[in-house]
Amino acid sequence: MHYQAPERDAAFLMFELFKAQEIWPQIPAFSDFSEDLISAVVAEGGRIAAEVLLPTNAPGDEEGCTWQDGEVTTPEVFKAAYRELSEGGWLGLAGNPQYGGQGMPKMLACLVEEMLWSGNASLYLYGTLTVGACLSIDAHGTPEQKQMYLPKMYSGQWTGAMALTESHAGTDLGIMRSKAEPNADGSYAITGTKIFITGGEHDLVENIIHLVLAKLPGAPAGTKGISLFIVPKFLVNDDGSLGERNGWASGSIEHKMGIRGSATSVINYDGATGFLLGEENKGLAAMFTMMNYERLSIGLQGLGAGELAYQLSAAYAKDRLQGRAPTGAQNPDGPADSLLVHPDVRRMLMTQRAYNEAGRAFALYVGLLLDQGKYAEDAEAQARSELLTPVAKAYFSDRGFDGAVMAQQVFGGHGYVHEWGVEQVVRDARIAQIYEGTNGVQAMDLIGRKVLRDGGVTLYKFIDDMGQSEVADAHQADLQEALDRLVRVTDSIIDRSADDANLPGAVSTDFLALFGLTIYAWLWARMACVAPADEFGESKRITARFFFNRILPASIGLEQGILSASDAVMGLTPEQF
Ligand SMILES: Cc1cc2nc3c(=O)[nH]c(=O)nc-3n(C[C@H](O)[C@H](O)[C@H](O)COP(=O)(O)OP(=O)(O)OC[C@H]3O[C@@H](n4cnc5c(N)ncnc54)[C@H](O)[C@@H]3O)c2cc1C
Repeated sequence: MHYQAPERDAAFLMFELFKAQEIWPQIPAFSDFSEDLISAVVAEGGRIAAEVLLPTNAPGDEEGCTWQDGEVTTPEVFKAAYRELSEGGWLGLAGNPQYGGQGMPKMLACLVEEMLWSGNASLYLYGTLTVGACLSIDAHGTPEQKQMYLPKMYSGQWTGAMALTESHAGTDLGIMRSKAEPNADGSYAITGTKIFITGGEHDLVENIIHLVLAKLPGAPAGTKGISLFIVPKFLVNDDGSLGERNGWASGSIEHKMGIRGSATSVINYDGATGFLLGEENKGLAAMFTMMNYERLSIGLQGLGAGELAYQLSAAYAKDRLQGRAPTGAQNPDGPADSLLVHPDVRRMLMTQRAYNEAGRAFALYVGLLLDQGKYAEDAEAQARSELLTPVAKAYFSDRGFDGAVMAQQVFGGHGYVHEWGVEQVVRDARIAQIYEGTNGVQAMDLIGRKVLRDGGVTLYKFIDDMGQSEVADAHQADLQEALDRLVRVTDSIIDRSADDANLPGAVSTDFLALFGLTIYAWLWARMACVAPADEFGESKRITARFFFNRILPASIGLEQGILSASDAVMGLTPEQF
């Protein structure tokens, strides 16, 4: 496998499109950052992805994880790579510097994360769960909890895991059964079985810090009765050294379609000692600090997969000789022309490129909003980042998977066999559409909590701002039409939802797709506007034209589907299935 970090694109987005160098000086926490420093971080992150993580990607998939008597062994090649990743400070890139994080902008972290996901999704998962757990402890923990856990997690000595799911309670966490009984010393005894816990047990590090959702005795029913607990594998002594082994164990690991180097465990908690994180019965809200981070990160997993797949297929298409160009032989001395002469192959490559480059721009934009929300206390930016998080999670992972399948198609039959690597990318990319809240659940979150709840105020303001942006003249009219379409569709959904409770769910996935396409149209129109007058800029302008001519028209079909009657969705009786 070969992968080259998209450094030129990163610099274009950071400094030419979003002009981070003009924004950061206004945020005291970032005032010291220079273009040189940021470029050096991106270059080094890209090197770690390409030279440290990527070489472990296929071997990790082949070896997978094994379980024996509660112990989980990860692929042999993972150990040194994980050490290099964590010791280099990459996990804490945007983490709190008071506890060992690097305090870098989220916008930059989004770029680097995409690269790490491209390098090895299974391996980086251990890292992303750790970072998410750190954010939750940082936001909701006591000063002692922060001091006890964060520095060792950011430094990679310990990892984190997130334990929500039970066999009967996946999307519907309100019906979970895990219990937390208060102990005399202020800790809690946690009992229950969680399934599908990523990095719940493994041999990469000496301690694993679980954040576990459980219910206190007499807690209110449903999601309002859930609390969050820190439940380490080894209890931690006051001096920070490891104490006794806690009362939980891995019951088994899953045998999965992809991400086989990532250990997914059943965890049995048998009166394990837990420590309340945040307030009683407010656990779901505290867990959402972690989940919102993870959602964006899992979106970046999709983006990283899409980029890796694109690079594999573009390189293959250049080398593979099949057939002749419709316009006449391009390689007359060879037996055939390269796949690149075929317009249908170009269609697949251009589609991947158009999605990946717009996706990267969108990721940076969400990162920028998060930075403005956090460091500049900009409430509007915060609300907008919340509106866009489910879109980033679902749209990136859907397009990443589509892109991986397209890349596989470029390889023909060779894409279906193992040794070329692209079939692994397809298998690994698929999970991003399912975990961390399925993409269906993201679409419901978007339409329900983020649009209907405030009557569309946050969304309409965003649409307005997109319409005011400076964009390339060539795409101004098409962009305006797309924005008008999004307004029409949103108006109609808000209006019809008032007396049709099934309507939001019936159209939610299509609405998210329409919103994602429209945001990409805005970003392509902006990128085409600021692209430099060189070969790189020309490739941006051509890809923008491809997006507007060949991809954006799908929004017409989405509008028609959403606006038409959707009662047939719920028309059949249960017996008819
Ligand atoms: C490899 C892997 C790793 C994972 N890692 C973790 C982890 O680290 N920690 C953790 O806690 N969990 C983890 N999970 C669990 C994962 O988050 C859940 O599988 C996922 O959230 C869906 O829950 P479920 O599987 O129970 O599906 P269900 O909730 O049963 O959903 C089934 C289908 O119904 C749809 N659906 C359900 N409810 C609704 C609704 N209200 N409205 C609309 N549609 C709905 C869903 O979208 C889905 O398509 C992992 C899962 C896998 C496979």
